[in-house]
Amino acid sequence: MKVGVVKEVKADENRVALTPAGVEAFCDRGHSILVEAGAGEGSGFSNEEYAEAGAAILGSAGEVWSTAEMVLKVKEPQMSEFGHIRENQIVFTYFHFAASEELTRAIIETKCIAIAYETIVDNKGQLPLLTPMSEVAGRMAVQQGAKYLEKAHGGRGILLGGVPGVPPATVVVLGAGVVGMNATKMAAGLGSLVYVLDVNLERLRYYSDVMPSNVITMMSNKANLRKTLADADLVVSSVLIPGGKAPKLITKETLKIMKPGAVIVDVAIDQGGSTETSRPTTHRDPIYTVDGIVHYCVTNMPGAMPMTSTMALTNATIRYALELADKGFAAAIRQHKSIAMGANIVRGTITHHGVAEAFGLPY
Ligand code: NAD
Repeated sequence: MKVGVVKEVKADENRVALTPAGVEAFCDRGHSILVEAGAGEGSGFSNEEYAEAGAAILGSAGEVWSTAEMVLKVKEPQMSEFGHIRENQIVFTYFHFAASEELTRAIIETKCIAIAYETIVDNKGQLPLLTPMSEVAGRMAVQQGAKYLEKAHGGRGILLGGVPGVPPATVVVLGAGVVGMNATKMAAGLGSLVYVLDVNLERLRYYSDVMPSNVITMMSNKANLRKTLADADLVVSSVLIPGGKAPKLITKETLKIMKPGAVIVDVAIDQGGSTETSRPTTHRDPIYTVDGIVHYCVTNMPGAMPMTSTMALTNATIRYALELADKGFAAAIRQHKSIAMGANIVRGTITHHGVAEAFGLPY
């Protein structure tokens, strides 16, 4: 199959859908890879590296879109890309259709085969193409928290790990899922005292088994939230109710019992955030302060770490992309339920109930 990789055009997006190592894997199986010149620059991969791996480097996105049978991307196609997409072409990327009726209608019009990373479900019922970005965001949350705890940023001026003779910071992690696990590991590794709160007792049991002794698990309820948040220097919020808005666990009133200069990294902001005072921010202007509490609410945290994020993402996507290239769409969805779950819009018809329900469109 002819597989294309284009440079992402969404603002501040530096990731790319395939690394040179990935190109080699496709070429080994007899596929041709067409890479738009400069596509990998933001993630540290040069045209030369792609060419050495076996890709043909094309001068423009238009050339890639018009030649490739399948285009691999990272973000949902932007308006400037809609006109390039062809009937029957497979487009494999994050779409998040439910967030945009304009995108949904535009993709229906193209009659392409839109396979969304975010709805691929593996045989354990998990979302394998969302996991790597949650891993990045969880680890990054603690790095960002450490930075904004610095006095110059309005933080308390406390070092996460303390020093001999001086106690470490207290970190509170809300939600013990993928983001929470990665944030906890980082904070615990730096020597902080970490409280992890979740409503899922099984998750807390697991943490209790695998985490070091500076990690304390607690059931997430109002009393425990009040107790831990009053002590917190850094809060990482990573709660998720699948398909729903994040619950507001930190209210305006809670901010008043928190220590001045404490930092909240509201990772769940892409689902509305779990702090009443959270609003989405960007990498260019990531924080603001309410009642002395620093809020970090960047909706696309992995975008700041394109090198790590690109490799983490492509490690997860490549097996599905290879299946699609080897077998073609029809056989791939017949043989792999996970890929069938990813098909959101096929040749003008919505094939995923979530997308149809979001806009009351036929399914
Ligand atoms: P996950 O499903 O693995 O974990 C969510 C956890 O929240 C679960 O363990 C669940 O039991 C727990 N939870 C639910 N209600 C709770 C409550 N009331 N109190 C405490 N815990 C509760 O999800 P994840 O992959 O860790 O993602 C977490 C959030 O981070 C999601 O909203 C995701 O979209 C978001 N995210 C944001 C970014 C970003 O750039 N901002 C990047 C990746 C993920």
